[in-house]
Amino acid sequence: MKKCMVLILSIFYLGVMPSEAQEFNWYKGNTHCHTLNSDGDSYPRQVIRWYRDHEYNFLFITDHNIITEIKYLDTDPDDDFLLIQGEEVTDSYQGIPVHLNALNSQIHIEPQHGDSVIETLQNNADAILEAGAVPQINHPNWRWSFTDKEISQTKGVHLFELYNAHPDCNNFSAGGRPGMEDIWDKILSKGILMYGIASDDAHDYVGEFTPRKSNPGTGWIMVKARELSTEAIMDAIQKGQFFSTLGVLLKDICITQTQYRIDIKPYKDAAYTTTFIGQDGVILKEVYGTTAEYTFNGNELYVRARIVESSGRIACTQPVFLSKD
Ligand SMILES: [Zn+2]
Ligand SMILES: [Zn+2]
Repeated sequence: MKKCMVLILSIFYLGVMPSEAQEFNWYKGNTHCHTLNSDGDSYPRQVIRWYRDHEYNFLFITDHNIITEIKYLDTDPDDDFLLIQGEEVTDSYQGIPVHLNALNSQIHIEPQHGDSVIETLQNNADAILEAGAVPQINHPNWRWSFTDKEISQTKGVHLFELYNAHPDCNNFSAGGRPGMEDIWDKILSKGILMYGIASDDAHDYVGEFTPRKSNPGTGWIMVKARELSTEAIMDAIQKGQFFSTLGVLLKDICITQTQYRIDIKPYKDAAYTTTFIGQDGVILKEVYGTTAEYTFNGNELYVRARIVESSGRIACTQPVFLSKD
């Protein structure tokens, strides 16, 4: 068999993804939630309590246009729960919402405005980067605000919300409208490295949890990092060392020069289909079972994967870019 000569271009994995020999752990976290400091219904301590009690390892509190300071909230920085400071920089252009999270922001960032959606995205992304924080583009399909066209033209952003659990966010394709995975494949097919985040965007922590409320616990990321520290989690998120999930869990993701391999952590007797996806959203391979492997041919441009569980829950792993050697 001819040896596949593939060069992995993206910063994900090779030399970066912790190898089997290195120590690493998977950490569960949410990059987007609100408290009474903006339009959430609970105090920050109550929000933190909810996530701690539901086996999360880290949380970004991202109130609208205000920093909820964590120094008074994270009483024990050495425990098994990490708070990372953030803000949802909440802007609009002619009534079209333009929201970006500033992850690990130490200072409040004012909405920057602009003369178009693209300029508004860019001005806010630039302000977030200038503040030393990491930008995450939020809920593009909320009120059908913008698509791959605008995201593709925004420089310096490599995180966007693939799934936002707020009930109004139109994550999936229907009625001739593109879902977030369609938008993602269009961005990636232009050769732009973009990682997809699943988040709660939680607002409603009190009362009955229903599908039409903005409750916590629906969409999250599992980050593969060497330790539970702000530095290690931020580093891993920026390198795409995570998967996004609505409940499907993975044991591991292993990417080598020749192969993309996924090991699923099965839930009871659930069945699994893993779909490997390449340029223009083309299906490269479908695999049944709890282990899925795809061997690169070098012509894919990028490879990512979606795992569907018979419960209806899904997970998505991050793209790796390839080029022929
Ligand atoms: Zn928002
Ligand atoms: Zn929000």
